[in-house]
Amino acid sequence: MNINITCPHCQSRIYVDPAELIRGRQFCCSGCAVSVSLAVESQAIVKQSMQKLESMQQPG
Ligand SMILES: [Zn+2]
Repeated sequence: MNINITCPHCQSRIYVDPAELIRGRQFCCSGCAVSVSLAVESQAIVKQSMQKLESMQQPG
């Protein structure tokens, strides 16, 4: 499942795979070719919220 983030440079939408983002992959903006990656300190937060989301989806 992809999410979209707003380019910090040109404000266009960048579609990213959050799992790849957590692994430290960089994504390029299709509008201005700036590369976007998750800050190291944000990786844990995103990972936590994703795990929370996954546990909510599981029955029981
Ligand atoms: Zn851009």
